[in-house]
Amino acid sequence: MFSNYQFTASERFLRYVQVDTQSDPQSSAFPTTEKQKELSKILVEELLEIGLTDAHMDEWGYVYATIPSTTDKKVPVICFCAHVDTAPDCSGTGVKPIVHKNYQAQDIVLPDDTTQVIRTSDYPYLKTLTGHDIITASGTTLLGSDDKAGVAEIMDLANFLMTHKEVKHGEIKILFTPDEEVGKGTAKVDLKKLGAQYGYTLDGGEAGSLEDETFSADGTSVVINGVISHPGYAKDKLVNAMKIAGEILSGLPKDRLSPETTAGKDGFIHPVGVSGIAEKCTIDFIIRDFVTAGLKIKEDFYVHRLKKPCVHIPKPLLNSL
Ligand SMILES: [Zn+2]
Repeated sequence: MFSNYQFTASERFLRYVQVDTQSDPQSSAFPTTEKQKELSKILVEELLEIGLTDAHMDEWGYVYATIPSTTDKKVPVICFCAHVDTAPDCSGTGVKPIVHKNYQAQDIVLPDDTTQVIRTSDYPYLKTLTGHDIITASGTTLLGSDDKAGVAEIMDLANFLMTHKEVKHGEIKILFTPDEEVGKGTAKVDLKKLGAQYGYTLDGGEAGSLEDETFSADGTSVVINGVISHPGYAKDKLVNAMKIAGEILSGLPKDRLSPETTAGKDGFIHPVGVSGIAEKCTIDFIIRDFVTAGLKIKEDFYVHRLKKPCVHIPKPLLNSL
């Protein structure tokens, strides 16, 4: 019926990934990086071109737009949402997307860093994509498919529906957010202005999968202040913060409460980063639970553990949790 329609998702995706939109967990600004707005501005321009006349970006970098209803039926207003930022874990500058046409389930060596190999043994799902075109990064950056794939899909949906008004649907709201990767994606969203009764985030894994629930999330940091003394005169004085951090980490349960030992709806507390020197050391944790009250229980569990004498932390040195 729509065989003449030229899908625009991959063409858009290849352009969007080249705009650096990395967010920054250390920043207290909003959005955490101004450069995220560069993509948001492009999206607004393109939505206006497509015919979504109310498309705009607000001061925080959120993009709102409406695909008008094509039906007289009273149906709920739904929203499709995606985030423009990419993860801080790996560079998002100078992304060079590569299209691997007619993929034949081979391992993919990324040309700009040939030690980077995407292996089907690590990602068996790839075999199900035999015959498809695959897009990867070139090896020195992330690709940013999370979540520019979602952004491109929604943009193509808007383009499709505005060029096929014979398809009956209710009012559809589009929302693009900044800062999802640093946990602030919904911080400044104006739900009243959005005006949708139901929303779908396009930010998934395998094609065709749908998730209808999620976890509650928290983060916490343990800051350890050591006692520094000249190593030549350190006997019975020096307390090395890094060694305490090591003790805390090795004291975590080996058989539970971690992502690697839990599944389904089990929550966990998960160390994601350690930074420091002998004088001062910080361990960052993320906490997940499907019952919000469970977050506190996990936090309390660790506070309790840290106060136990098995971890030799001089009490005044355990600065904050
Ligand atoms: Zn995402």
